[in-house]
Amino acid sequence: MSVEGTIERARALVDAPLDRALEPWRLANPEGKVVGWFPVYSPLELAHAGGILPVGVMGGGNQIEIAHADSRFQSFVCSIVKSTLELGLTGRLKALDGMVFHSICDPAKNLASVVRRNFPELWVEFVHFPQNLTSPLAEDYLVAEYRRILDRLTDLTGRRVGDEDLRRSLAAYNASRARIRRLYEIRRESPQLLSATESYLLVRAGILMPPEEHAALLDEALDGLSGRDVKPKDRIRVVIEGSFCEQPPLELLQSIEEAGCDILDDDLLLGVRWFLRDVPIDGDPLRALARSYIDGSVHSSVKHDLRRTKAQPLLDKARGGRAHAVVVLAAKFCEPALFDYALYRKALDEAGIPHVFLEFEEKMWIFDKVRTEVETFVESMLFD
Ligand code: SF4
Repeated sequence: MSVEGTIERARALVDAPLDRALEPWRLANPEGKVVGWFPVYSPLELAHAGGILPVGVMGGGNQIEIAHADSRFQSFVCSIVKSTLELGLTGRLKALDGMVFHSICDPAKNLASVVRRNFPELWVEFVHFPQNLTSPLAEDYLVAEYRRILDRLTDLTGRRVGDEDLRRSLAAYNASRARIRRLYEIRRESPQLLSATESYLLVRAGILMPPEEHAALLDEALDGLSGRDVKPKDRIRVVIEGSFCEQPPLELLQSIEEAGCDILDDDLLLGVRWFLRDVPIDGDPLRALARSYIDGSVHSSVKHDLRRTKAQPLLDKARGGRAHAVVVLAAKFCEPALFDYALYRKALDEAGIPHVFLEFEEKMWIFDKVRTEVETFVESMLFD
């Protein structure tokens, strides 16, 4: 199949309502459980090892009208929190047996409690990530936390998970993430061959299917890409930062690209690509997973690592990708992203890396203003 065909298959899955997207897996696994994971970082391996399908639940995008969820939250809260609750209040989370949240920020923590209270039939859990990664106890703590989640998942399925089950799952997710890393390498090396929008669809499809199927889909895409022959265009190379949790509308990414940017790297969909390298599959699997979070996971504004400054990973990403500029693309009312922007701005200025700040909401419909703003930014770089 051509790479365009594979991307269209991914798009159909991403655009489908959750119950329809999960239908093939449900039919093949009538007794199986499906657990939704809120962004950002999720130990998907724990669920997969127990025969559960872990799926990413990333709000309602621009396909849902917020009619009920507003009454459960304060006004100045990001859109993903409200639209995720709206999914539940309109019956769309019925496709799931459970949901897992993380300690990433106050709205996400509140959402976990609100979901638990409003949907008592849903199995709800919460992963507490260590806040101090310099502590020698952080690893032991996270191993214990993963073991607790694993036990709770066993309550859901009645199936006890052994180390071999976990190792198989580590290997399956390693394989899928290795292919995602290859997609990003292609974008950095030859951005004309694969747009960020196309790569986004291919990666996002992975939040709705087992890693084995995702690896096969990505193999098909990589195979198709090897036949693409597109000449490079006169564009600026940018890195996107700030969209680690709520996801910008696809049309917004497209507008940034159409305005003259090659998006070489980004922090979108971190849940399926949060490890920088493979998780070791020898030794204790829970310890390997915990150590990988502490020493080998991708930075975001909701991961607190006192061993380096907040802006350093962004500077490394920009320099490593030979980016000309950074686009800080932050969700409206996302405190972690907005707090970090102050630090990014200072560090980027000091490093002489041009940057532009854009704010988005899931339910954006008009992109002309953003496009003009980015076009002006691109022209100022190309012609100054
Ligand atoms: S978008 Fe920001 S504020 Fe909202 S849940 Fe995610 S991290 Fe928290």
